[in-house]
Amino acid sequence: MSLSYSGMPTQRAQTLWAGGTDDNDQPPERVTAPERMPCRHCLGYVEPGEDALILGYRPFESLQPYAETGPIFLHAELCVAYDREAGLPPRTLHADLVLLKGYSRRDRIVYGLGALVPPSEIETRATVMLADPRVAYVHMRSATNNCFTLRIDMKDAQKT
Ligand SMILES: [Zn+2]
Repeated sequence: MSLSYSGMPTQRAQTLWAGGTDDNDQPPERVTAPERMPCRHCLGYVEPGEDALILGYRPFESLQPYAETGPIFLHAELCVAYDREAGLPPRTLHADLVLLKGYSRRDRIVYGLGALVPPSEIETRATVMLADPRVAYVHMRSATNNCFTLRIDMKDAQKT
């Protein structure tokens, strides 16, 4: 099984670049990056000196009890979405640990599967989680700050 990795959908990023509000219905904060800040659209970095947006993001389509909203960074100017087929984004290899959580088709946490893993084990653990028939997709979050990082799907077999 091979995996695809995606951040914020481009359509959502475009509404923010066009001046739209975040998922807390607030305008994003605009800052000049004092250090590298991880962008959740291109899954690369906002480099020091570039502008970033800081905003509340809910990586779920509808409101329900499991739809967490949390802080993320985004390039302040247009950036290109990460190529979902390009494998694990290199940036993720710099983390000490990441949090992986499996979600059902109804966007509910599948309990008993969540795990803190080092970057070298992300693909193996996500593959195991996605092989569970209860799991539709996996979210990767920061293990230390709990910020949403990216979504992991099976590349070939589209679960419905
Ligand atoms: Zn970006």
